[in-house]
Amino acid sequence: MHILVTGGAGFIGSHLSERLIADGHTVTALDDLSTGQVSNLAGIMGHQGFEFIEGTILDRPLVAELVARADKVFHLAAAVGVKKIMEEPSRSILTNVAGTENVLDAALADMTHTFVASTSEVYGKTTKFPFSEDDDLTIGATKNLRWSYACAKTLDEFLALAHARETGLPVTVLRFFNTTGPRQTGRYGMVLPNFVKAALEGRPLMVHGTGEQSRCFGHVRDVVDALCLLMENPAALGEVFNIGTDREVTIRGLAEQVITATGSSSGIELVPYAQVYPEGFEDMERRLPDVSKLERVTGFRPTTPLERIIEDIIADMRQPAEV
Ligand code: UDP
Repeated sequence: MHILVTGGAGFIGSHLSERLIADGHTVTALDDLSTGQVSNLAGIMGHQGFEFIEGTILDRPLVAELVARADKVFHLAAAVGVKKIMEEPSRSILTNVAGTENVLDAALADMTHTFVASTSEVYGKTTKFPFSEDDDLTIGATKNLRWSYACAKTLDEFLALAHARETGLPVTVLRFFNTTGPRQTGRYGMVLPNFVKAALEGRPLMVHGTGEQSRCFGHVRDVVDALCLLMENPAALGEVFNIGTDREVTIRGLAEQVITATGSSSGIELVPYAQVYPEGFEDMERRLPDVSKLERVTGFRPTTPLERIIEDIIADMRQPAEV
C-alpha cells in the first residue's frame, strides 16, 4: 500500500514511517520541519519505497496531490507540545484546524481512509476516571490558552466524524496519550526526554508544580503497533480510540525513577508553573485513559513498562550523535 504520513519527520511520524517501510509499504512523509527533523528519518532516507517532501499541510494543492497518490493517510502533522502551543497560540490553532480541513477535503476526492491524530488533551478537566472515548469533554476558559489546543483538536475530530456521517468518508480518530521513547526531544516541553537529559548531565530535574500531577506514558513502539493493527481493521472505521497505557505515575515519581535508572547525582527541584509557562497556563492534574476499546477491537494493549521506556530513552541519548 502507498501511505501518506503527514508529520512524517516528527517523533511518532518517523517511527510509524519506519515501521510501514519495514512492513513492505510505500511511504510518503510530508513535514514542514517546524518540530520534526530530517535526522529522524535517517534509517529510511534513500530507501526506494520512501519519499520525503518538505512542505506544509497548509499548502492545499500540495496536500491534494499527495493524498491523491495515497491509499491511506495518517494525518499526524500538527503544532504540538504544551510549550509550543503556549508560545505560538494563534499559529498553532490555524495549523491544527486549517491543516486538517485540507487533508480531509483532499481525502474526499477518492474517499481515502484517513487517520486523524487527536490528543488526550481533549478530555480537558474531566474528573471521571478513566477517560473513555464517549465521555463528555470539559475544557477550561478561553483566557487560558492551553485549552486552545484541545479545542482545535476537538474541532478536527468533529470535522472528521461529520464527513464520515455525511459522505461515508472512512476516518479513524486517534487520541494519543503521553507517547514517549527514543528520538523524542525535550525542546517542546515533553517531560521524559527533559528529565533524562538533565539526569545524564547532572543537572537538577525541574518538576513543575507539586509534582503530584500524574500521567500514563506509552512507548512509541507500542503506539505504532496499535496504529498498524487499526490500519488493517475495518472495525476502526468511523471510530475514536484512546491510544496509550493506563499505568499512572506522578511526575515526581517519574523524576525519582529517572534518577535511579541513570544512577545520576541530580536532585529534584520544584518549579512553580508561573516560572515556566506564560500566563494562561493551567495543568491537567490527572490523565488516565480507558484503553479497553483499543484492546477489544485490535486484541492489542500497549504494555511496555515505564522502566523499559526510560531505559530506551537513556540508551538513545547516550548514543554519540551522528556526524
Ligand atoms: N513537566 C515537568 N518538568 C518538565 C516538563 C514537564 O514537571 O521539564 C510536567 C508538566 O508540567 C506536566 C507533566 O510534566 O505536568 C507532563 O508534561 P508534558 O509536557 O510532557 O505532557 P502533557 O502536559 O501534555 O501531559
